[in-house]
Amino acid sequence: METVEKREQLYEGKAKIIYQTENPDYVIIHYKDDATAFNGAKKESIPGKGELNAKISSVFFELLHSKGIPTHFVRQLNDHELLVRKLEIIPVEVVIRNIAAGSLVRRLGLKEGTKLPFVIREFYYKDDALGDPLVNEYHLQAMGVATFEQLSELSRQALEINRVLREFLRQHQLDLVDFKLEFGIFNGQILLGDEISPDTCRFWDTETHEKLDKDRFREDLGGLTEAYSEVYRRIIG
Ligand code: UDP
Repeated sequence: METVEKREQLYEGKAKIIYQTENPDYVIIHYKDDATAFNGAKKESIPGKGELNAKISSVFFELLHSKGIPTHFVRQLNDHELLVRKLEIIPVEVVIRNIAAGSLVRRLGLKEGTKLPFVIREFYYKDDALGDPLVNEYHLQAMGVATFEQLSELSRQALEINRVLREFLRQHQLDLVDFKLEFGIFNGQILLGDEISPDTCRFWDTETHEKLDKDRFREDLGGLTEAYSEVYRRIIG
């Protein structure tokens, strides 16, 4: 396998750093140990988190590839880093929900843990100054953020990814409660980007409903690294 040259830093986010490589089509994602919540208001460094997120994301991206779902993932380079295709990011977060939790509970007053009668898909417009507002297809098209066809494709892929991940996780005694995806364009094709990890998904133990995701940090439950390790142990098992 050819070696990859790490070049200049392109971007530093709350939990990741992106580096250019010698190939203009490829970038490196470095997963940091930092955890943030509530728009960065709560912040902490949690040793081991970055490595676990890199490993867990790689497992999920490989699973999606094996099911014929293309993503930006090329390969894992080392404990903290993934080589991925450089996408032109569409500034939309696609959230998929199977069970009520988080903002859905806060906004609609549903009881946490309520099994939803069908899969709910939401769009959020990625804009820090606006606080990533919940939007619909009309808003995004009116703002010129994405076309009708692109939004249909995001929905189609997100629902397909939900089917694959939900079934896989179920086999490993985990419920996929909800998760967030980000997509981008590479050579005219819409590809899944970003990450799929306990930072961006809610995973509950199927039997005990124990939370094995970033809610351990958001809700001060402790044991975040142990929970992420448990997710990794199960999905490779
Ligand atoms: N999520 C995320 N990044 C965000 C917002 C949400 O990864 O900026 C994920 C979150 O981890 C959960 C799902 O999207 O798995 C739904 O999040 P929700 O809307 O319930 O918001 P939260 O409760 O996290 O504020």
